[in-house]
Amino acid sequence: MITKIAVLGAGQMGSGIAQVSSVSGMDVLLYDIKEEFVQRGIKNIQASLDRFVQKGKLSAVDKDTAINRIKLTVNFSDIAGAQFVIEAIPEDPVIKLDTFKRLDALLKQDVILASNTSSISITRLAGMTARPDKIIGMHFMNPVPVMKLVEVVKGIATSEETLNTTLELAKRLGKTTVVSKDSAGFIVNRILAPWINEAVYALMEGIATPGDIDTAMKLGTNVPMGPLELADFIGLDTMLAILEVLHNDLGDPKYRPCPLLRKYVEAGMLGKKKGIGFYKY
Ligand code: NAD
Repeated sequence: MITKIAVLGAGQMGSGIAQVSSVSGMDVLLYDIKEEFVQRGIKNIQASLDRFVQKGKLSAVDKDTAINRIKLTVNFSDIAGAQFVIEAIPEDPVIKLDTFKRLDALLKQDVILASNTSSISITRLAGMTARPDKIIGMHFMNPVPVMKLVEVVKGIATSEETLNTTLELAKRLGKTTVVSKDSAGFIVNRILAPWINEAVYALMEGIATPGDIDTAMKLGTNVPMGPLELADFIGLDTMLAILEVLHNDLGDPKYRPCPLLRKYVEAGMLGKKKGIGFYKY
């Protein structure tokens, strides 16, 4: 049974993955390229666990135990002892492909290497390794400690054994899984991104105000967040990147990113993280 996990990247997603892994009883090694990044990661984990304690969802003792199970490192070679690796580094193909090559050289041949990529092909990552059967996608949702879903993505060579081990691990992390083929956007972004894009087209065409578009979708279709509000939360640069992947990979003009979305990104109005997007924060 897997008890020792390494998580690469201590950003938004990596720290969330490290958190749910340690709370589920795993020993976690959290790796990033600089000491300040792993320190920021563990601070975010502490703050998140404190909120769970305040809400009465976790005891203070369990919080301390979870924190103590997380070890931090900036030495890539420390990852060698892991039984399972989850990569959550930036969505840059050059960095990810190189990292998979280095992981393949470092880790024992039976170790599964999972990627949290939102859009890069799992098959392409697998192509950098001598273990394509052991490469898989584990696409967590943001924020990881709150969102239940993990999309498990099978590359062309991913084995059934790798799939089953990953599904079982995700369940132990308290997640509900769905299995997707290795196709642009997997399931969630394949459907979500065109929905958001259409809302931006509606805005560009002056059909309604942002507030009315979001209210219409919230009260009309019973979703917790409207499309423009959700796009601001995800980041408009991220939304544009996802639409570009869908457009390029699937080649269908229906995925053409809305020119207004591009304008917001060019202006640096990227949503909540920048204090301004379709709304002001
Ligand atoms: P982030 O920028 O918050 O974190 C990335 C971290 O990786 C940073 O701490 C950075 O220092 C570190 N890093 C950079 N180069 C590295 C390297 N070579 N080795 C190890 N660490 C390195 O990004 P994020 O939002 O956490 O996204 C990470 C991954 O998760 C991306 O692939 C992204 O597509 C995916 N993802 C993001 C979301 C989201 O909503 N943010 C949702 C699902 C999946």
